[in-house]
Amino acid sequence: MQKNIAVIKGDGIGPEIVTEAMKVLDKVAEKYGHQFTYQEVLMGVCAYRATGVPLPQETIDICKKSDSVLLGAVGGAVGDAEIAALPGHLRPEAGLLGIRNELGVYANIRPSKLFKPLAGACPLKEYITENGLDLVIVRELIGGAYFGKREIITNDKGEKAAYDTIIYSVSEIERLVRTGFEMAKKRRNKVTLVDKANVLESSRLWREVSERIAKEYPEVEFTCMLVDNCAMQLVRNPGQFDVIVTENMFGDILSDEASMITGSIGMIPSASLGATKCGLYEPIHGSAPDIAGQNKANPVATILSAAMMLRYAFDLDTEADAVERAVETVLEKGYRTVDIKDEGCTVVGCTEMGDLICAEI
Ligand code: NAD
Repeated sequence: MQKNIAVIKGDGIGPEIVTEAMKVLDKVAEKYGHQFTYQEVLMGVCAYRATGVPLPQETIDICKKSDSVLLGAVGGAVGDAEIAALPGHLRPEAGLLGIRNELGVYANIRPSKLFKPLAGACPLKEYITENGLDLVIVRELIGGAYFGKREIITNDKGEKAAYDTIIYSVSEIERLVRTGFEMAKKRRNKVTLVDKANVLESSRLWREVSERIAKEYPEVEFTCMLVDNCAMQLVRNPGQFDVIVTENMFGDILSDEASMITGSIGMIPSASLGATKCGLYEPIHGSAPDIAGQNKANPVATILSAAMMLRYAFDLDTEADAVERAVETVLEKGYRTVDIKDEGCTVVGCTEMGDLICAEI
């Protein structure tokens, strides 16, 4: 199989972790007889510095023409006054939201799985996770508060004020909810819609649409849960969840919480899917400027994102399984990056972790 992959390394640890994921893809190509070609493009602070905008048109064009897009992370260092002072449309995050929007990737799939060898890195008491933790958050990605009308205004008392709006149409909700039900059918047949229907009108629409779609999937158990309760249940009894379906901002927050239960944010991959198979594959963490350039980053989230690309974009299930198994084997052998280090384990850097995973494929 021959595939063209657009690569956005981005900022901070982005170049380090994406380099390791490309190494793994090359190993897969060599072993299984595929050919992956890469075209690197700019986004984020690096793009702003080189071109004056965080998402150059060339990046959009190349990503749209590619078979898939692999992304590291974007974002400036905390305390970078120049970047912090930029208006919203020039900030690195505008690049991220922009590329998701341009590619029309409305569903962000975020699996959170507790790898057995990492049980010690899980901050929850053992009895809470003894039955395992394996859930997927299906998060709406290109609507809601992050894309709604927002403004800084002067209120009627003459005081500075600001607002953001959440707006969702029935069709936007339908396509996301269907993605969640389809995913549940391939897993443990359980969907939990997470909303704030006791307060928000938009959440009540999510509930109405989801309840209707649930009737099309009688084999899937469907429940609704308020987002505040879900935040609590994720640390009280995370094993109860299979597929969580939710809107953009709730999904953003809950998936970071779910990631921490698995040991580290550096372990969680994601796939952002739309109407086409192309998709955007990226770890859920940010550019981690505090550890950038020190060979300390955990590349596993990005490597597992590449595995999701093999599975969802290219239908290469065997190859994706091989990458996931290689990650598990390396962890079983006791190798850890510093974010997941444990007593008696061998701490390795980002590059070494990539090499070890390649060696197991
Ligand atoms: P972050 O996810 O970058 O880092 C949070 C903490 O987790 C840090 O201590 C970091 O060192 C650690 N961490 C993150 N990824 C890691 C990895 N792979 N290995 C080991 N440790 C890891 O979040 P933040 O510090 O809030 O944000 C930093 C920058 O990233 C900001 O500019 C933010 O806007 C941006 N950001 C980008 C994305 C994205 O590109 N998708 C997502 C979130 C944040």
